[in-house]
Amino acid sequence: MRTDYCGELRADDIGREVSVCGWVDRRREHGEHLAFIDLRDRTGVVQCVVDERHDLRSEYVARVTGTVRARPDGTANPTLATGEVEVGDCQVEVLSAAEPPPFPLHSRTEVDENVRLRYRYVDLRGERLQRNLSLRAAVNSAIRRSMEAQRFTEVETPMLVASTPEGARDFVVPSRLHPGRFYALPQSPQIFKQLCMVGGIDRYYQIARCLRDEDLRADRQFEFMQLDAEASFAGQHDVMAFITEAVFAAVEATTGNRPADPITMSWTDAMERYGTDKPDVRFGLELVELTGLFEGTEAKVFQVECVKGINCKGGGGSLGRNAVDELTRKCRQWGAKGLAWFRVGGNGALDGALTKFMSDAEQAALGPAMGAEPGDLLLLVADRRQTVRDVLGLLRLELGRPPVTEGGLHFVWVTDFPLFESIDDQGRPISAHHPFTMPHPEDVGLLDGAGEELLAVRSQAYDMVLNGWELGSGSVRIHRPDIQRAVFRALGIGDDEAEERFGFLLDAFRYGAPPHAGFAFGIDRLVAILAGEENIREVIAFPKTQSGADPLSNSPTPISDRHLDELGLHVLPPPAAG
Ligand code: ASP
Repeated sequence: MRTDYCGELRADDIGREVSVCGWVDRRREHGEHLAFIDLRDRTGVVQCVVDERHDLRSEYVARVTGTVRARPDGTANPTLATGEVEVGDCQVEVLSAAEPPPFPLHSRTEVDENVRLRYRYVDLRGERLQRNLSLRAAVNSAIRRSMEAQRFTEVETPMLVASTPEGARDFVVPSRLHPGRFYALPQSPQIFKQLCMVGGIDRYYQIARCLRDEDLRADRQFEFMQLDAEASFAGQHDVMAFITEAVFAAVEATTGNRPADPITMSWTDAMERYGTDKPDVRFGLELVELTGLFEGTEAKVFQVECVKGINCKGGGGSLGRNAVDELTRKCRQWGAKGLAWFRVGGNGALDGALTKFMSDAEQAALGPAMGAEPGDLLLLVADRRQTVRDVLGLLRLELGRPPVTEGGLHFVWVTDFPLFESIDDQGRPISAHHPFTMPHPEDVGLLDGAGEELLAVRSQAYDMVLNGWELGSGSVRIHRPDIQRAVFRALGIGDDEAEERFGFLLDAFRYGAPPHAGFAFGIDRLVAILAGEENIREVIAFPKTQSGADPLSNSPTPISDRHLDELGLHVLPPPAAG
């Protein structure tokens, strides 16, 4: 239907007869029975001069045939790629009339997100989503090229599966042919990709849809896309190199630049210095260890397992009493008993309510230990080590965190995660990753321990972090039945339960399993950061709202009684509120 895209006509085209198709972006009356129409397609807009009698309103779809000509002297628009030309002597064919759009496409004010999602097909026409979705396509395509160049084979895995062990809640699908039985939608292709390794695929990848029934946030949707990968006869460093290469290829394809090499940091280092396993290294304000400094202290508040602090540079002057009280309130909310604070005076002396309980030596040592200068504000938390890390980790973000899209791209590999993240009420450990993660070779012996002792077992698991957002995680997998049994035993998963839940994987391992390792990273998050968006919904064509609904198709919807009967299901009334 067309000879050219609207946004691509230039002075070189002057004199050509062209046909362009698209939506009416704007209309202005010209006088002399003529009107200006800006016709828009995915490449941009071009001005067309048409007879004013044509009924061409906003968002009408039209085909315009005419001659490209220079705009009259003084009327060129340097801000527009097609601003030197216009299409004149136009014949117009209206292909589709349109009701007035539910919101203006060029609104200067934020349009309510529910309205945007309800009319997503109109929203998609706007520049922001056009740009973000093209960027996303370029990221996917660069990832595929990179993985193929690294000899990975794309394999698709099923969507109707048995429950997967990522630790979130499953979405389930009732089976009509097997009433009372359910499929789960995959939280990840984890088990299938490991089976691919047993199957000799050697290097597997997939841009995979993963589904987890979790509470939604700016960086989380029920459905999300991962670059999922697994490699045989490969270890942690090989996988980290494969993934870095694919991510960097995607960044380079979309920004023109290769980012700086990732920093590698152990989990312990990340927790001690940043108070989180998702260290945001774009800014300082690192946590300073002060436990040794307060050893043998008279001050009761500091007679605890751990004391750490943050030097808020210049905060002694800029943060008044109210601001510090507000920070204290937040620290309490996050689980601390309080926040100890000191202003650093002109001569380096400390001023704060707690100085009277501290020895002269402690007072003299604190400033230098924290690199303090006059005008700084020193903020300390004293408690159990875990609490101190958590609270100061959050306080650090509160004090200094820029929006995720600012300050360039700072990739960090976090390695040596613990195998178990915590111990539950019954004294059982909880996997930090999934139960197929290989323990650190030096720590296998510790698996026989009990309770808190198990927290010391390190794993061969690693995460990739970008600007404080977790992009993904992976691990070396257990391929030896004896180690797998020991991990299951530590987790309190007996032989019968292991057989029932993962029997088919364990069976497969009896038929010749290569050592293997893998990773998965979240494409939505990477694309959001590259697009300068803080919310992944802006880089997803049809996302769900924060409450998990889709205002466009109205899902989730009830289903008919007949359909329920067929599935052998009976729906209970919702529990009474309160
Ligand atoms: N399946 C894991 C996840 O989705 C990633 C991996 O271990 O490869 O988080």
